[in-house]
Amino acid sequence: MKKLDMLYEGKAKKVYKTDQSDRYIIEYKDDATAFNGLKKGTIADKGIVNNTMSAYLFEALEAEGIPTHFVSRLDDRNMLVKSVEIVPIEVLVRNVAAGSLSKRLGLAEGTRLPMTVLEFCYKNDELGDPIINEYHIEAMKMATPQEVERIKEMALMINDILAERFAQAGIRLVDFKLEFGRCDGQIVLADEISPDTCRLWDIQTDEKLDKDRFRRDLGKVEESYHQVLERIMGGR
Ligand code: UDP
Repeated sequence: MKKLDMLYEGKAKKVYKTDQSDRYIIEYKDDATAFNGLKKGTIADKGIVNNTMSAYLFEALEAEGIPTHFVSRLDDRNMLVKSVEIVPIEVLVRNVAAGSLSKRLGLAEGTRLPMTVLEFCYKNDELGDPIINEYHIEAMKMATPQEVERIKEMALMINDILAERFAQAGIRLVDFKLEFGRCDGQIVLADEISPDTCRLWDIQTDEKLDKDRFRRDLGKVEESYHQVLERIMGGR
C-alpha cells in the first residue's frame, strides 16, 4: 500500500491517503500536547508505543466482535485503516474519578465509581472540546439517536474487554477516550487506544503509567509508556 498525500495532521498523528480510496495510513508521531495545546513536548518513541499498542488492542477487540477501523500494522509507526467519517464526539469512559471529572464534581482522584460513567465531548479544539449531552448531539446533528445508542453499547463492551486485559497486566483502567466513525453504514471504533488516551494506574501502587506523567511533569514518561506496552503485550 502506497502512502500518498497527507490529508490531515493532528497533534499526535498524521493521516495519509493511499492508492486505495477506502484505505488511509495513520502515522503516529512522538509529539505530545496537553491542556488543549498549551503544553507541548515530545516523548521519545511514543509513536512506536502508541501504534503498536493500538494495533494490538484493536485486534483484540475485533476478535471479541467489536468492529474497528484497523486493517493492519505496517511498520513501527504506521497502520493501515479503513477510511471512515469521524463522528465529531469524544466518548469518555470512566471507572475511577480522575482529571476533569474530579475537578468538576469535587471527587477525590482515585474514588471508585460504583458504575461506569460515560461522558460526551464535542470534538472541537477552538471550543476546547466542551462537554455535551445526548440532546446537544441530536440537536446539532452530530449523530442520530440510534448511532448514540450503538456508541454507548460499544463503549461499555470495549470497557469490559480492555479493563480485563489491563487487569491481567496488573494495570487499572481508570478512564479513557474513544472516537467512532461511520463505515459502510455501521459505527466502528476509530482513533487510537494508548497511554495518550487512557489513564492507567498500577493496580498495586496506583503509580500513574500514562500521559498524566507528561501533563503533570511527574518524570519517567518514556519509561512508563514502554512499561505499559511491555506489560500488556508481554513477549508477543
Ligand atoms: N482524553 C483524551 N483526549 C482528550 C480528552 C481526554 O485522550 O482530548 C482522555 C484522557 O487521557 C483521560 C480521559 O480521556 O484518560 C478523561 O479525560 P479528562 O476529561 O479527565 O481530561 P483531562 O483531565 O485530561 O482534561
